[in-house]
Amino acid sequence: MKICPLYLNGDWLVSSPFEQVINPATGEAIAQVSTIDRARVAQAIADAHEAFQSWRKLTGKARGMFLRAIADEIENRSTEIARTMTLENGKPLAQSRTEIAFAVDHLHWFAEEARRAYGRIVPQQVDGKRHLIIKSPMGVVGAITPWNFPLVLAVRKAAPALAAGNTIILKPAEQTPLSAIALAECVAAAGLPKGVFQVVLGDAPEIGQEFLQNPLCRKVTFTGSTEVGRILIAGAAQTVKPLSLELGGNAPVLIFDDIDLDRAVEGALAAKTRNTGQSCIAANRVYVQRPIYEDFLEAFTARMKSLKVGDGLEKDVDIGPLIDDAGLTKALAHIEDAVARGARALCGGKRFGDKGFFIEPTVLADVPDDALCTQEETFAPVAAISVFDTEEEAIAKANDTIYGLSAYAFTADLDRAFRLAESLEAGTIGINDGVPSTSICPFGGVKQSGWGRELGSEGMDAFLETKHVSLGLQI
Ligand code: NAD
Repeated sequence: MKICPLYLNGDWLVSSPFEQVINPATGEAIAQVSTIDRARVAQAIADAHEAFQSWRKLTGKARGMFLRAIADEIENRSTEIARTMTLENGKPLAQSRTEIAFAVDHLHWFAEEARRAYGRIVPQQVDGKRHLIIKSPMGVVGAITPWNFPLVLAVRKAAPALAAGNTIILKPAEQTPLSAIALAECVAAAGLPKGVFQVVLGDAPEIGQEFLQNPLCRKVTFTGSTEVGRILIAGAAQTVKPLSLELGGNAPVLIFDDIDLDRAVEGALAAKTRNTGQSCIAANRVYVQRPIYEDFLEAFTARMKSLKVGDGLEKDVDIGPLIDDAGLTKALAHIEDAVARGARALCGGKRFGDKGFFIEPTVLADVPDDALCTQEETFAPVAAISVFDTEEEAIAKANDTIYGLSAYAFTADLDRAFRLAESLEAGTIGINDGVPSTSICPFGGVKQSGWGRELGSEGMDAFLETKHVSLGLQI
């Protein structure tokens, strides 16, 4: 079986113990990946600090050229990287290709933004002074990423961090390290100086603590569950380490009776089933206005039944496996709980096949507010649907959660669209749009879905310090 090295200070290191990577479509191991201990992570931070001294001095334009070179490498290898991503994550091959295209677009966006780390000059209010506001890179960044979008979420951190003049150490999820290693290969081929970008793997809590406690690591950026986010916040308190946190979601979808039914069905379907329902912005709760409730249930269920489930490498598959047995067990428990509380299962509800971690696309109607699938992220192609009467009721239900990453609404009423945009408590709101993310706009959560924003021009700010330089002048 293939043994994968880690990318440390410009070298490839094979180091045991190895961690197995499992193909979720078969449950079989496909690779072994090296791991390192905390002391070696500390060495990586020291090397990144050394590399920072010269990387920060490059112009934004020069750093942007490196990002473009990484993007070119990824594009040239996209067929092979897409296959790797599908093998380790399970997502349908077409969606792996989309993720790669998205990552390439992020790199292009931040290559451009690298030239625009603007400060400003503030007019003085006393004679003999001038005030400059300048933006400086922070230093070494520790990045921790999840398995559900193994390439794009790493690039979403690495591209702006590098563009801003920082160096970065990436700790990918143990389920999907191969996409991160492919990214490191592209970084190496693009000729970035040693130590500017590194990949580590090992005991996740230990690596997290090293990032938080090592004084040379100046920022920690994390995407993952709210639960782990809370652990990092507690750890960061000791060293007052700046954190960016992209955490869990519980996205509502509101469907009003003025919308064209097909448009609502297709939008909700995209928001629910992309990445096999394992997206932080996946539709988790669908609320439909009473006059179209039964029609929506019928049309949506027909579409869910039409989805092809299978190994992501097979042609035309829409729904791949869930990431692991724990993900499958959780989704089945959510279905069982909803049905026990009175929900109607309109399709699916069971495990699919006898190998890997597949689940049938599932529609649950009349799901009560206290069901687990309404309260927590289900992270599966399980649609929890219920009815509402008024706009006020729909907004109250949508906001009745500790999370606030994304929300969706389908309506043909422009006034209502603006009311929803202003009252829904979420960092990203898709109105008549089931796929709202883009490189050019900020992404992040409110409430317990996180701190800070990625992408857009805000994505660079997350990796820049703002300094005020006050000049005393005799002029
Ligand atoms: P997770 O929190 O279990 O793991 C995420 C990463 O944190 C992994 O690399 C893991 O190894 C690491 N980790 C685990 N324990 C740690 C610790 N104590 N200290 C430091 N690192 C630790 O999440 P997951 O299951 O991989 O991903 C799914 C979650 O991520 C969902 O909640 C999803 O909503 C969220 N997510 C959020 C976004 C976003 O942009 N807001 C995007 C994708 C996923």
